[in-house]
Amino acid sequence: MRKPNKQSGKQPGSGVLSALTVAWHRLRYRLGIMAKPRPVSVPEVAVSFRELPGTRVGFWIVAPCPHCAQTHFHPAGSGQADPLERLGEVEARCGLGRYVMGLPPRPRSKKERKAVNKRGRRVGGESDDWDE
Ligand SMILES: [Zn+2]
Repeated sequence: MRKPNKQSGKQPGSGVLSALTVAWHRLRYRLGIMAKPRPVSVPEVAVSFRELPGTRVGFWIVAPCPHCAQTHFHPAGSGQADPLERLGEVEARCGLGRYVMGLPPRPRSKKERKAVNKRGRRVGGESDDWDE
């Protein structure tokens, strides 16, 4: 990508060179965009869901926390709220940083395997297992 005659940059009629320059600037622009997605990298953690017995209050359990290695509980809403909406980037309970709460890769339940066999493919939702 380096031209030997770089010093005489602005000569007229150098169509190829200016096209290259434009392409180069576009590339740098793109790289610039891709290079700054997040200031710090936020670790992802797989969470599990627990419901308090006898209530409709649920928690997402982070174990272990990537920052302090403790177990943290994040309220997942009560009853009407969809617990899945609480997933995503949150502040760790210990205050040492943030993490992205996400679902672990799901083990295949019998039910799901049966459904796959029946329909040949998985149908849409990701929340179908949670609330029944
Ligand atoms: Zn922590």
